[in-house]
Amino acid sequence: MIKGLEPVPLKDLRALGAPKQWIVEGHLETLPSLTPVRGHLTAEHRGNVLAVEGVLQTIVTLSCDRCLGQFNQQITSKPAELIWLGVTLPGDEPLQAETDIEHVNGWVECLDPRGCFDPEQWVFEQLNLQLPVVNSCGDHCPGPAIPLTERQNNVLDEEADPRWAVLRQLREP
Ligand SMILES: [Zn+2]
Repeated sequence: MIKGLEPVPLKDLRALGAPKQWIVEGHLETLPSLTPVRGHLTAEHRGNVLAVEGVLQTIVTLSCDRCLGQFNQQITSKPAELIWLGVTLPGDEPLQAETDIEHVNGWVECLDPRGCFDPEQWVFEQLNLQLPVVNSCGDHCPGPAIPLTERQNNVLDEEADPRWAVLRQLREP
């Protein structure tokens, strides 16, 4: 739990009548990171949408998919999104005129207007979206280690190879 990022009722944000800002400094339980998550976010209630934006940064330790070695990856996120305040996402119905959301193509999220906005959950989601799909430690990746079973098979092949059998016979007195 990051200090100060407690969920806030949407009606409180509405009553505020101005953007609310949070300073982010701490570790997320849901996303272990090497350095604390640092940054800030603001949320503004605009009637039927909540405008949320922020700047977030942290360093996470990931495991390379090829060599299985661990490496550190900086994650930076500058998200800005509008969250629809309604139980269901709007269809093609006209939106309230006071909101400047004509540029938004498609809604990804909605919140029950009687519920809360959870800034910590939002921070987690934004950082999680930035995690690489494929973990690679970089160009210097040594590649996959040869599995033990494969090495054992090579030894067995050598013993089974008839040419080695001839050599062994030569060695015998
Ligand atoms: Zn690697």
